[in-house]
Amino acid sequence: MINIAIDGPAGAGKSTIAKRLAKELGYIYVDTGAMYRAMAYYFLKNHISAEDENRIAAACEHVDITIRYQDGEQQVILNGENVNGVIRNEEVGNMASSTSVYPVVRKKLVELQQQLAVKENVIMDGRDIGTVVLPNADVKIYLTASSKVRAKRRYDELTSKGEVCDLDQIEQDIIDRDYRDMNRETSPLKQADDAVLLDSSDLDIDGVVEKMKEIIKSRV
Ligand code: C5P
Repeated sequence: MINIAIDGPAGAGKSTIAKRLAKELGYIYVDTGAMYRAMAYYFLKNHISAEDENRIAAACEHVDITIRYQDGEQQVILNGENVNGVIRNEEVGNMASSTSVYPVVRKKLVELQQQLAVKENVIMDGRDIGTVVLPNADVKIYLTASSKVRAKRRYDELTSKGEVCDLDQIEQDIIDRDYRDMNRETSPLKQADDAVLLDSSDLDIDGVVEKMKEIIKSRV
């Protein structure tokens, strides 16, 4: 099986690009952030604080997360309920960032991710794919962009959905989330030694897809 790992900070364009590439190459796209979001959604719904590690650990025993594909789109199933429609907002994203620091949360999801990659050709995106989840991936790409550019992209995405939001606040959230993701003890976000660095600040989607295809072609 061919495994392609894409890591990088929030809003770098990982999921948009990975989805496009997966379609073009006929691979399965695995969005690992959605799994951490589904966990975070469960904690929020059950009024469990991000600081309460004991309750988080206890709750993990009651959480069952699986993945299903519908028309090529990944669906995250949390205890039997499809939560795709309720996990893509800033509240859940920030909670996911705060609760993904706990090893008990990560262990569960990493196992699920590794099982998927054994069975299929995958393009998997996240924070620790090249470093921890798929250390032997055939291709590893670290996709990044400046926090200003990433904030503007997220702002455009949210406003296009009719959400009212503040650009400076989004940038601050992105900076805080980067800090947490890069400085946590377990599986911090960092570029794997053998990953190719790609900065998308001055590229549009097509430009990034083209560059990625070149990188993949040279390695697979
Ligand atoms: O990529 P996305 O914004 O959906 O991820 C939400 C949060 O989940 C991230 O901020 C990060 O803290 C966490 N995450 C992680 N490891 C992954 C994917 C996401 O810790 N592989």
